[in-house]
This record gives sequence, structure tokens and C-alpha cells, in this order.
Amino acid sequence: MMLPGTPDLTGRTVLVCGEPRAARRAVARYRAAGAEVRTAEAPSEVLPSAALPSGTAAVPVAPLDGVALVVAVGPEPGSADDGAWAFLPGLCRERGILLLAEPGAAAAGGVTLVGGGPGRADLLTVAGRTALAQADVVYYDRLGPAGPGSATPAAELVAALAPGAELVDVGKTPGHHKVPQEEIERQLVEAALAGRSVVRLKGGDPFVFGRGAEEVRACAAAGVPVTVVPGVTSAISVPGTAGVPVTHRGVSKLFTVASAHQPFSEEELEHLAGLGGTLVVLMGVGTLPQTVAGLLRHGLAPATPAMVVERGFCETQRTTAAPLEGLALAAAEAKCSSPAVIVIGDVVALGDEWVRQAADLATGDLEVERT
Ligand code: SAH
Repeated sequence: MMLPGTPDLTGRTVLVCGEPRAARRAVARYRAAGAEVRTAEAPSEVLPSAALPSGTAAVPVAPLDGVALVVAVGPEPGSADDGAWAFLPGLCRERGILLLAEPGAAAAGGVTLVGGGPGRADLLTVAGRTALAQADVVYYDRLGPAGPGSATPAAELVAALAPGAELVDVGKTPGHHKVPQEEIERQLVEAALAGRSVVRLKGGDPFVFGRGAEEVRACAAAGVPVTVVPGVTSAISVPGTAGVPVTHRGVSKLFTVASAHQPFSEEELEHLAGLGGTLVVLMGVGTLPQTVAGLLRHGLAPATPAMVVERGFCETQRTTAAPLEGLALAAAEAKCSSPAVIVIGDVVALGDEWVRQAADLATGDLEVERT
């Protein structure tokens, strides 16, 4: 895939100069861009013998003939510490060949956990993009940027952001089963110990129901350096994109984020119903009837505004809003499906959807409208 601002190098010859470990990313990237890549590890592979210090034997293993672009990896050519490659700028100028300098890849392997945000490419942080651009291998899954319903498939976006990197989809295998967590951890550690720069790309924030801490622990236990790049969590941003703030002065001064992957216990329901503020439920579509019934049973007001926001930030984003007592039915009728964020609390009444639907109700159209 061509990146914006990148010349088309398909079929052109690119010579990458520099120490092989440092140059590996540039080599992979130009190969991925369709170029025929030659490499030169030592200056003697490029420099014509006449220019070498006397007594040095030079074999032009990778001559400049036919080369469209020279990439010098490592110190800037012509800078004080460029050492052996100092002749490159002059030589390229003489031959009329374009020269690009770029920093070398880190020698030591490591893992970077990157929060990919809620599903839109421009909600991935700059730090996340930088980590991807420097990756040798990226482990990603379904709920990364460009999630379900988005115009760009996740794999295509990851390939564009991490050109040349090996891409591993751990969200599904040929049998459509997820790669087990321990196996993901084992692969991350193995790749890093082999000296590769590893990115583990996750949806939202790695530490919000993302099993990020387990991966950090696995890396630490194996002595692998690990960094975490936070991401925009769906817990706050998906209600936000549906027009609902999780807090609002005078309306809600706290929000609770809970997973309903497993149904809540009676004790949890009692606490959640008594908390006040805003309740944000992730992974909760399947258990919505139990959640609603439980909260009502423990005294949450039946008229509490509530909504389900499906596929936030995707083209097919949809909000289904209803008073708490009607939410499970409304969601069932609308056939709400995962991924979705459920929001329960007075803040929902602030959202555009709720305001519009309340207006519809007031004009006698009692059907809860869904967009
Ligand atoms: N770490 C993630 C959450 C992972 S759990 C984060 O911080 O956002 C997966 C759940 O997140 C989904 O079941 C759904 O409840 C929610 N989710 C993630 N992305 C979403 C999106 N774009 N729209 C709606 N819900 C989303």
C-alpha cells in the first residue's frame, strides 16, 4: 500500500546502507513498497576502489548503477559522527541519486502495548503511531482501530501504519477462534527475545478490560522491556460521540465503568444501584436483561435515562435510548449487538438522541425511535 507523501518505488532499486540490524526496518519497508532492495553493510561495498584509503581492497558488491534511491541508516551522513559513510552525500550528488537519511532501528527487542482507541484511525495517539511505524511485528485484533463496520479493514490500516512489519491477527484463527491469551503472551515474549520490536495493538485503552496488565506481567517475568501507550477508551468516548458526557456539573459527578461479560452478582447490583452518578457498562449486550432487572430490583428509578450505543465511531454507529425499565425491550426490538456501550444515568438525558426522542414522545409518537 502506498502511504501519503511516499514516492512510488514499485520496481525501482533502493540501496539501503548501514549495519543490518539497524537497517532491517528500512529494508522491510522499502520491500513492502514494492522496491527492489539492495543492501550495503560496509562502505567498501559501495565506494569505488579509487576513493578508498590506500591498502584497502574494495569490491563494489552493491554498485550504484541503476539505483533510484540511497537510504543511509544510522547517523546522518555528513554529520560529525557519520564516520565511514561520510562520502555518501558527495557520491550521490555526483551520480544524481536521491539520498535519504533515517535513524536505525533499536537493536534490542521489546514490547509496546498500544491502545488503538475506539475504532477510528485518527483517534490513535501520535505515540501509538510512532510505535507502529517502528515495529517489526504487530499483534492486533478485531477491536483495534478500524473495527467492525468501519470503512477500512483493521488489517489494511495496520499495514499502512506499520509498513514492512509482520502482521499477526490474534483476534481470529482459521477456525475463527481467538488465539488464547497465554499463547499471545508467549508469542510476544518470544518475538521480543529474538530482538524484534513488537507492538501489541489493542482496542481502546490497554488497561480497560484489555488484559494489558497480564501482558505487561508476562513480559516483565521474561525480562523483556515493555512500554504502554494509553488509548482513548470506548467507556468515555463512545457515550461522548453519541452526545452524552459521562459527567456533567449538577447532574453526575461520578461514573462507574463495569464489565457485564458475566452477569452482575446481587451484591454488585445492589452497590451499582446505590452509587448514583453514571453507570457505563461494557460487554453488556448479552446480559442486558439481567442488568436492567437487577438494577430495578435494587431500587434504581425505572425512569432513569439509559441508552445502548453500538459500533461507536463506525459508519454504522447507532443509539437506542429508553427509560431504564424499557431498555432491555428496546434493545431486543432493535436487535442491538456487540460491540456496544450501555450508559445508565441522568446524563443520558443530555444527549441529542434522548432530547429528540423525548420530543417525539411528547408529540404522541410513543414508539422509541432509533437511528
Ligand atoms: N479496552 C477497550 C475495551 C475492551 S472490552 C476500551 O478501552 O475501549 C470490549 C468492549 O468495549 C466491547 O464489548 C464494547 O462494550 C466496548 N467497545 C469497544 N469499542 C467500541 C466501539 N467502537 N463501540 C461500542 N463499544 C465499544
